Amino acid sequence: DLRLNEKYTFDNFIQGEGNKLAAGAALAVADNPGTFYNPLFIFGGVGLGKTHLMQTIGHQMLAERPEAKVVYIQSETFVNDFINSIKNKTQDKFREKYRTADLLLVDDIQFFAKKEGIQEEFFHTFETLYNDQKQIVMTSDRLPTEIPDLSERLVSRFAWGLQVEITPPDLETRIAILRKKAESEGLEIDESTLDYVASQVDTNIRELEGALVKVQAQATIQKQDINIGLARSALADLKLVQKSRGLQISKIQEVVANYFQTSVPDLKGKKRVRQIVIPRQIAMYLSRELTDASLPKIGQEFGGKDHTTVMHACDKIARQIKTDTEIKSAVSDLRQMLER
Ligand code: ADP
Ligand code: MG
Repeated sequence: DLRLNEKYTFDNFIQGEGNKLAAGAALAVADNPGTFYNPLFIFGGVGLGKTHLMQTIGHQMLAERPEAKVVYIQSETFVNDFINSIKNKTQDKFREKYRTADLLLVDDIQFFAKKEGIQEEFFHTFETLYNDQKQIVMTSDRLPTEIPDLSERLVSRFAWGLQVEITPPDLETRIAILRKKAESEGLEIDESTLDYVASQVDTNIRELEGALVKVQAQATIQKQDINIGLARSALADLKLVQKSRGLQISKIQEVVANYFQTSVPDLKGKKRVRQIVIPRQIAMYLSRELTDASLPKIGQEFGGKDHTTVMHACDKIARQIKTDTEIKSAVSDLRQMLER
C-alpha cells in the first residue's frame, strides 16, 4: 500500500478553475519539499482529484531523486498498522517506517476523527518529520477544524503550511478531462459527444470516468463507433438518477429567466417576440431533459400550454443545439447551473 498509482502523474492531471490553486501548490511542494508549504493540506469533496494530485508530488520527487523514501498511505492503513504494532509489539518498526520518510502522504485524514491514541502517535510522527524538514502532505474531505475531535495541537499544526481546496470542475474542465482520457485509451470521440457526456455527469470526476467506461462498453457490445446517439442510450439510466434529484420546473424557469434577463411571467405568458420565445422554448426543453415531468405537465407549468407546443419546443431546441452555437452554449451553461 506504499505504492503510488502510476497513472496519477502531473501530466495526467488536467487543470481547471476548481483545482488550479491546489495544483500550483502541489507543484511548488514538489519543487521545494519541506520548505514553504509544510504541511500541505488538500481538502474537498469525493472524486475531485485529491488522491491523484497528492500522488503527483510523490512521482515528481521520485523522478528527481529515485532513492527518496516516499510513503503514501490511506489514513486507515496508519490506524491498522498502529494497532497491529501494539498487538505484535513491533512499535519500533512502525515508527521507523513512518518517521524516516522523505515525503509522507496521508490520504483522507478525516478518519483520524475521534481516535485519540492515533492522533497522539501521528502527532509524534508529524513532529519528527517536520523538524527534519521532511515534507508532509495530507488530504481530507473537510478542513481540520471540521474534523470531529481532532486534537487542538494537530488542528494548529495542520494550519502551519498551506490549506488549499479543490472545488468541483466546471463543464470545460470536465470536457478536457474526458478528452484526455479518451486520448490515452485510444478512443475516437467527437466534440459534441464529449460535450454531451461531460454535461450528463455531475461534478464528481470518478463518476465522469465511469460514464465514459459505460459508453465505451456500449460501443463494444453493439460493435459501433462512439457517437452522441450511442452515448445517449448508454447513459440513459444515469439521467434517471439525476432526474430523481428533484429539480423543480419552477427552478428551471427562474434560472432561465435570469440568464436571458427576462421574467418568469413572460416565460409562462403568450408573447411571441424572439427575446421571449427562445428562452421559453429552452426552459421547456430543459424541463423535459432534467425532470420527470410529462409533456402535458410541462405545458401546464408554462401557463397552461398544449403538450404539442411543448413537444414542438423540445424538438426545435434539440435541432438548434446542433446548428446554432449560441443556443448550444446557452443550453450547456444553463444545464451546468441547474445541475449544481
Ligand atoms: P478523491 O481522492 O478526491 O476522491 P481521486 O483523486 O481518487 O479523487 O480522483 C478520482 C478519479 O478522477 C481518478 O481516477 C483521477 O485520476 C481522476 N481525476 C481527478 N481529477 C482529475 C484531473 N484534474 N484530471 C484528470 N483526472 C482526474
Ligand atoms: Mg481519495
